[in-house]
Amino acid sequence: MIQQYLRIKSEVRDAFLFFRLGDFYELFFDDAKRAAQLLEITLTGRDGGDGERIPMCGVPHHSALTYIDRLIEKGEKVAICEQVEDPKQAKGVVKREVVRYITPGTNMDRSSIQNEENHYIASVAFLNEGIGFSYSDVTTGELKATELQTAEDVLNELSQAKAKELLVASADLSHPTIQQAKKQFGLTLSVEDNVETETVSHSKLPVQSAVGRLLHYIKRTQRQSFAHMQQLQYYEVQHTLRLDREAVRNLELVETLRNKKKQGSLFWLLDETKTAMGSRKLKSWLLRPLISKEAIRARQEMVASLKEALFTREDLREAFTSVYDIERLVGRVAYGNVNAREFVQLRSSLEKVPLIASLLEDIGGVAKAYVTQLDACEDIVELISKTLVDDPPVSVKEGDVIRDGFHEGLDKYRFASRNGKTWIAELEQSERKLTGIRSLKVGYNKVFGYYLEVTKANLHLLPDGRYERRQTLTNAERFVTPELKEKEALILEAQEKSEELEYSLFLNLREQVKVHTVRLQQLANALSEIDVLQSFATIADKYQFTQPEFSASRSMQITDGRHPVVEKVLGVETFVPNDCRMDEEREMLLITGPNMAGKSTFMRQIALTVILAQMGSFVPASRCELPVFDQIFTRIGAADDLASGQSTFMVEMMEANTALQRATNNSLILFDEIGRGTSTYDGMALAQAMLEYIHEQIGAKTLFSTHYHELTKLSAELSRCANIHVKVVEEDGSVVFLHKLEEGAADRSYGIHVAELAALPVGVISRAKIVLSHLEKDQTTKQMDTYNILKQAEVNQAVHEVASTSSDEQLSLFGEKNEQPSRKRKTTSSQERVLQKLSSYAILEMTPMDAMQALYELQKQMKS
Ligand code: ATP
Repeated sequence: MIQQYLRIKSEVRDAFLFFRLGDFYELFFDDAKRAAQLLEITLTGRDGGDGERIPMCGVPHHSALTYIDRLIEKGEKVAICEQVEDPKQAKGVVKREVVRYITPGTNMDRSSIQNEENHYIASVAFLNEGIGFSYSDVTTGELKATELQTAEDVLNELSQAKAKELLVASADLSHPTIQQAKKQFGLTLSVEDNVETETVSHSKLPVQSAVGRLLHYIKRTQRQSFAHMQQLQYYEVQHTLRLDREAVRNLELVETLRNKKKQGSLFWLLDETKTAMGSRKLKSWLLRPLISKEAIRARQEMVASLKEALFTREDLREAFTSVYDIERLVGRVAYGNVNAREFVQLRSSLEKVPLIASLLEDIGGVAKAYVTQLDACEDIVELISKTLVDDPPVSVKEGDVIRDGFHEGLDKYRFASRNGKTWIAELEQSERKLTGIRSLKVGYNKVFGYYLEVTKANLHLLPDGRYERRQTLTNAERFVTPELKEKEALILEAQEKSEELEYSLFLNLREQVKVHTVRLQQLANALSEIDVLQSFATIADKYQFTQPEFSASRSMQITDGRHPVVEKVLGVETFVPNDCRMDEEREMLLITGPNMAGKSTFMRQIALTVILAQMGSFVPASRCELPVFDQIFTRIGAADDLASGQSTFMVEMMEANTALQRATNNSLILFDEIGRGTSTYDGMALAQAMLEYIHEQIGAKTLFSTHYHELTKLSAELSRCANIHVKVVEEDGSVVFLHKLEEGAADRSYGIHVAELAALPVGVISRAKIVLSHLEKDQTTKQMDTYNILKQAEVNQAVHEVASTSSDEQLSLFGEKNEQPSRKRKTTSSQERVLQKLSSYAILEMTPMDAMQALYELQKQMKS
């Protein structure tokens, strides 16, 4: 058997081999050692001959799924090896085979599969002709592919799809992009060198190769039907609004930056869908907004109609609550792991379709167009209804699944079995009468079958001969009679036959429904689309969103724009709406204002408004006119990527670079305090150079927030750049944030006030205020941020120390050790000291700032 094990294991080296032995799956050798650790189960051993012990551990087959899930969750793979012949008939070792190969990207049975999440496996092909990329959700059969230009695109697509597993050719395993993807996204890498060519044909070789590799792997690992694999959808990233992974992360589209939770993201706010498939579609729309005005308008019109029809929309939402995940149910039908309950879910979902269609008819207008896409699949409803009982058990092998009257043969078995059971029920009465034992009862257990139970006290009342002892309990005995045995055999036979028959009828049903896979998938698609659109309408209604218009010019006019998520969190009364005006003459907004004023919030809200608008949703503004953007780039906040060995500033520059390299004049760029990660002058210089470059070379709409007030002068040189600032007022020495944007540049930074709000020690705050007032005397250092103020304080201190330990001062101290210096003498020596100090400075080694500070000190000394 161990030889058999080793042979099979050699075919599945990268997976844990779950080797079926009776009621257990056993793992051996290294598999056992690792699994025992990962699953926290006991490691035992088995005699391996020659006194050797083979490490072994095992899990009961009925609870194996949980253990398998846990391994898959950890990114591992599992091969299930079953006995494929009846042990009674086997000669020698029972034949075993790997029947399934479960991997993180291809798990069809996982209890942890989130309903509203897609579960993707991706594949990439690096060819001379280009890079092919493909991904699929095996639970729904979705299959997509594209051709990409750069390795960066591959990382973006992988991150968008949140793929759990990535397939590559063995030659590409060490490709830097592949290794980066593994490290950054924690996905499982799998090698697949074979490419399926029969079923895939695509004119682009890289696409053909990526899809072929994916399908071959799925076939190889699943070893089962994949009739639900949908037709390949070819897409091009430039046909949708491109959001790279920084934008998706920074704008918190699907999860928050801080704790990676859905709550607090745009998706969280938008998700008023009623079905799991609607929720998944919403997320895919959010990550790939449209760029075709016609397609956007088509969605908008439907949202407008649904928004108007308040009551009908409520009925529609209600109807959707009983629509199950048809998309995944169809997948399970085709794959063969559907159960009877899920069929009933499918039926009740389909039964809602006529109601949904009639509600859309009521709404009229564009909603009517959707009705034609709603095939209620009455034939399938009919088929399921007449075949299955209304409330079947989960197990399909233990009977009670098929409806009475559906199959004559089954009815006969059932009649026999029920008859037998009635006979047994009546037996209790007749035996009591016969024996005179009132407490005699008939019972059943799995080991002994049916029996008559008589208490020990009454045993003497039993007549001799007819009763055969079966089991002895402490105070009772159990018996059978020849008639009871006969009936029992009849019942059991009928039961066994009917269970077998029921199962085969169930499989029949499955095959019949499977034929309609494509129809059902189309219906699922239409329903999920309607669900997303009703969610848009509901949101628009709930949060007073308006329909955006798309300008033919490059004009962007947002009146009373809001950040929908911040507004939801803060409350409508607290959030201050702001306008945004940009056009051909005004393409770049330089935003200044104190910390905490709302600069980032404003920039993000513009990006979210664009995304919402291009998804076909309404937007949080009282009026909104936008151009159609092709890409959004963001550089917001500190995103340390220490894991990949990059410094904060390096990440900042890399993100800025992506925008500078890729943006077009139809793109939107958000740069939040670019350059703050390095020294003031370097940062300022870089920021200015970037702004000039975007202004002159790219022409993208750009929002740029900064604390470098020096940059605000740029608007005089760059004709399409304007200054705006967030207003604050000072009341009784404290700052009040108005969160209102106004034209022009801000006057100062208020960094110390914000530090005060953050409750820094009083000593630090008061010292900072003193340092600041010193610095503010100097025009050149007037507008520096807190970081530089503190740095300057250090310089101050150093200059101070140089002054107090200068040789001149030491001399005078030693020379007049015990004398009180006269006033006159002190004045003279003071002037001398200044001159000496001045001549001691190594001017060329000082920074301009140090020189300025030293000069300031000297002048102060002279004046005093
Ligand atoms: P920093 O320069 O420190 O990065 P910032 O100017 O970018 O600050 P934000 O982070 O955008 O400031 O906003 C700070 C806080 O102010 C937000 O968390 C929010 O609570 C509040 N806020 C921002 N905008 C508004 C607004 N329009 N109305 C009401 N509150 C707002």
